[in-house]
Amino acid sequence: MTAVDDCLFCKIASGAIPADLVAEGERVVAFRDLSPQAPTHVLVIPREHHVNVGALASDPATMAELVATAAEVAARECDGEYRLVFNTGARAGQSVFHVHGHVLGGRGMTWPPG
Ligand code: AMP
Repeated sequence: MTAVDDCLFCKIASGAIPADLVAEGERVVAFRDLSPQAPTHVLVIPREHHVNVGALASDPATMAELVATAAEVAARECDGEYRLVFNTGARAGQSVFHVHGHVLGGRGMTWPPG
């Protein structure tokens, strides 16, 4: 799927809306979350629009690059100790319907998540 006109993260991926970029690849872009929930809180998104992580299963090369980018960011910023979270659906906390992996690290985490 190509860019969706009213999608915030499509606009960040294309550069139409600025973001604090920390990594870029052929298929993905990583940038700092506006409302960080941990010392490291980075969002990794595909350049192409997919609604959620289940939809991204149709594009395994992009999924692999997303996971590799998350690991690289975490290795650089928080010794490779991190959570990679994909909120999927409004009830699970998804508010932006362009798939994004939250890379969270730099502090202790509890289980189960809220
Ligand atoms: P979710 O609730 O899982 O869909 O996550 C969406 C995330 O996007 C939230 O953590 C927001 O703080 C973050 N967010 C929303 N708008 C922006 C933006 N313009 N730049 C960076 N992060 C954003």
